[in-house]
Amino acid sequence: MGYQRIDGKAISGQIKEECRIKAERYREQGIEITLAVVQVGNDPASGVYVRNKKRACEECGIKSLSFELPEETGEAELLSLIEKLNKDKTVNGILVQLPLPAHIDEDKVIRTIDMKKDVDGFHPMSAGALCTGQRGFVSCTPAGIIELLKRSNIEIAGKECVVIGRSNIVGKPAALLLLAENGTVTVCHSKTKNLKEVTSRADIVVAAVGKPKFITADYIKEGAVVIDVGIHRNEDGKLCGDVDFENVAPKCGAITPVPGGVGPMTIAMLMSNCIASVDLSESL
Ligand code: NAP
Repeated sequence: MGYQRIDGKAISGQIKEECRIKAERYREQGIEITLAVVQVGNDPASGVYVRNKKRACEECGIKSLSFELPEETGEAELLSLIEKLNKDKTVNGILVQLPLPAHIDEDKVIRTIDMKKDVDGFHPMSAGALCTGQRGFVSCTPAGIIELLKRSNIEIAGKECVVIGRSNIVGKPAALLLLAENGTVTVCHSKTKNLKEVTSRADIVVAAVGKPKFITADYIKEGAVVIDVGIHRNEDGKLCGDVDFENVAPKCGAITPVPGGVGPMTIAMLMSNCIASVDLSESL
């Protein structure tokens, strides 16, 4: 029996198309959805992410405003830009590309973004809303994981879900979202004992370990669904995930590849959050 290869590229394309249609409808009502993208310094990886986000905005008919600040920008200067964008009624969403240079307190920057414009979903109020089942922005990568599962007709309710990783941007929100979908959720981390035993029970495994090809077939139950969040570049410059795809895929019911799985979903969900900001800003 073959496994289902979950096509994040195709699903993200559908979501962006839905966003484009919604953005167009808003434009007809005189609302131009606008995302402010703030980058400090010129980290090459951040540069690629920012370019991809701006390109997605173009595809979806979302206006993007670019704020490219030099590496030596002070914290106060960055905070005052964010406060200005918070007040600007023409700006729906604010995205500050991370990581920031070491002299800037990232948490402080995230806390300064108005929760109503927090399209990355990193603000503690957004995280708290997710935790308590209230409305708010959901961080894009975990939101993308749920969308991938739903649009691939994979049932979450009642399933044994194991998330490997407990970061604030991936592991924890992914676990909370699976719980909200009525999964039975276990969160593993570097201090977890007998990791293989725990993951081998799972119907759905979300790997957000940050270690290339860490998850091999012996971690996975026959027929399980495997979602690979990791992104790494191996020795010959090729992308790979936290899951050893060739080794694991034949044992799975369904699996996301890297590239072309979770990665494209993150930007699609950012676009979706930009669209949702119009409604959310009224209800938060
Ligand atoms: P992170 O902050 O480094 O978190 C890694 C997590 O894995 C931690 O909770 C850590 O446990 C746990 N871990 C590390 N070694 C482990 C082990 N041997 N056994 C069990 N758990 C272990 O990483 P992240 O930001 O969540 O990102 C995870 C991966 O996803 C990275 O490869 C990153 O590049 C990728 N990513 C992709 C996207 C996307 O758009 N596709 C977005 C974000 C991140 P402790 O908490 O105990 O240290």
